[in-house]
Amino acid sequence: MKKLIKYTKGSACARNLLLENGFDDLIDFPLDLFVSGLGATILYKPMINSDGRIIFGKKNTIIEINDGISFEAKKRFTIAHEIGHLIMHKGVDIHNDNEATMSWFNNKEKQAKNGRVEYEANQFASELLMPSAIFYEKQKGIKFSPQLLRDLSIFFKTSLTSVAFKYIELGDHPICLFHSYNKTVKYWMRNIDFPHFIIDKTKLVPPEDSVAMEFFEKGKIYTKEKSKQPIWKSTWLELKNWENDNDFNFYEFCIITPMYNTVISVVWEE
Ligand SMILES: [Zn+2]
Repeated sequence: MKKLIKYTKGSACARNLLLENGFDDLIDFPLDLFVSGLGATILYKPMINSDGRIIFGKKNTIIEINDGISFEAKKRFTIAHEIGHLIMHKGVDIHNDNEATMSWFNNKEKQAKNGRVEYEANQFASELLMPSAIFYEKQKGIKFSPQLLRDLSIFFKTSLTSVAFKYIELGDHPICLFHSYNKTVKYWMRNIDFPHFIIDKTKLVPPEDSVAMEFFEKGKIYTKEKSKQPIWKSTWLELKNWENDNDFNFYEFCIITPMYNTVISVVWEE
């Protein structure tokens, strides 16, 4: 069965831009060149508290990218995000982007105009770098695992976090994500088909027996081979009183960014 791909304003815009320019994807195409083709110029320079920004001039548009970004995936996402502003948000003077504006979790809940604009730019970037139709085909028929997310991240040259968010929308296996920062659950999201009830722990500490908490309490980061950790259903989800924790096979895979003290817990049932 083919999945119906739903486009948001941002992702539809990215899809159209690819189509209009004759691209199926930009996986092996230099983004700098793509930006030049759109009439803007990328400038790499040292920046403080900023990953990238776009400056709309009367005639020319400059996209500045922090030359201190060491991860290729992050650099590509930042450029793609700025292209989103270029295409969708012309004339808003300057957009300044950092970890906060490009976070998947920070923007969606914000109703402020700024939050919406950033959310659109992130949706745009996700689609530009990981076209939905290709993403869907790439994961189809493959059993869900941390390795699948890693393989997709390598293929699309995007971060594990971006891939996990895309998987929630398009992946075949229902998963949910919990974002924790500084030992506090900030937000959660689930695939539309996820069949279990999630205990809302927003603004609370992560569950005592979660893998996320193991990182916050003990600094534990599992190796690749052990990154799929068995947990109880009751760890993150509601266990009905007629259910038994032993009857379920749940797992948690944590995407940890020690520098920002954040954990994304990917939770799924096998
Ligand atoms: Zn932005």
